[in-house]
Amino acid sequence: MTQIRYNDFSFSVGPGESVLDCILRNGIDISHACKAGACNSCMMKANQGTIPSKAQVGLRDSLKEQGYFLPCVCFPDTDLVLTDATELKVPARVVERDMLSQTVLRVRLRMETEIPFRAGQYFTLFRQDGLARSYSAANLPGDNWLELHVRLIPGGKMSGWLANQAGENEPVWVQGPFGFCFYTNGNPEQPLLLAGTGTGLAPLYGILRDALENGHQGPIMIFHGALDGRGLYLVPELQELSQQYPQVTYVPTVLHPDNADPAWEVGLLDEVVKRKFNAWRDARIFLCGDPVLVNGMKKKFFLAGAALKNIYADAFTFS
Ligand SMILES: Cc1cc2nc3c(=O)[nH]c(=O)nc-3n(C[C@H](O)[C@H](O)[C@H](O)COP(=O)(O)OP(=O)(O)OC[C@H]3O[C@@H](n4cnc5c(N)ncnc54)[C@H](O)[C@@H]3O)c2cc1C
Repeated sequence: MTQIRYNDFSFSVGPGESVLDCILRNGIDISHACKAGACNSCMMKANQGTIPSKAQVGLRDSLKEQGYFLPCVCFPDTDLVLTDATELKVPARVVERDMLSQTVLRVRLRMETEIPFRAGQYFTLFRQDGLARSYSAANLPGDNWLELHVRLIPGGKMSGWLANQAGENEPVWVQGPFGFCFYTNGNPEQPLLLAGTGTGLAPLYGILRDALENGHQGPIMIFHGALDGRGLYLVPELQELSQQYPQVTYVPTVLHPDNADPAWEVGLLDEVVKRKFNAWRDARIFLCGDPVLVNGMKKKFFLAGAALKNIYADAFTFS
């Protein structure tokens, strides 16, 4: 049976048990959220032992080489000596909050140390007591703050706290950036397809502005879906961008037609995209938000002719 040493403790990992579950079973409450290798909230460092490659999927090479890994998807074959990844956390403060819609809170964080990132990448946000959740960057790096769009979840620990309890200049910690869902230069004529529901718009809005700042000339279609009009946000900003840049088409989409603006599309987001978009073979595609929808769209758009290597997706897997 493999052993893990963590701080002053030593534990035996049970058959089929992840390192995270083993630590939690032994009564140590370390930060974690999705338990699926998607959010990076539980990241740790192995100072001794061999980390299975599956426990490092999605991490950038520099982190992998230093022994960082995700204990929630780590099923070790050798004994491990572990520490927290505290040195990767950067102190920050909650400097601004305002509602973008009835259910979406915009949070701006001022970082104590500037962290280089690309719009669309995500960060793990830590509260003082260790509660951790991941959020995508909705702004461009030059802004002097990190902007997050947080969906208010009924009973949600982090979203509820950010909306109701966090104080002015509340200290928090930020770890990242993570993920590969961002715009890269090259091929400025390529069609871009951006699609997501709810706060999936956060990374897409950042990616859109990044592409435009980098002089992207090809057609860009951005689809934002919601149950009804109350779930759409940043509508004037996106309409303005589409007026200012003729290559941008903004398609607000609602599932329920009640009180829908006649200019909005009605229907399931993936079906609306398939109705209105046809440059599948050449497009670079960005999909963000609800995990079921993101994974479903990935499959459907691949079957419609998109190349898998051109699809960048961030599923907002929750705890
Ligand atoms: C890579 C990544 C990027 C993300 N980016 C964003 C982002 O930009 N904006 C954003 O708002 N969120 C984002 N998330 C989701 C976010 O990390 C949290 O999961 C979310 O904010 C809920 O946290 P909470 O503490 O408020 O709720 P919790 O206390 O975790 O959840 C309370 C209850 O609600 C359920 N629940 C939580 N979320 C959902 C949901 N979406 N649908 C249905 N039930 C749910 C939980 O299972 C639980 O029962 C991202 C997640 C990942 C993995």
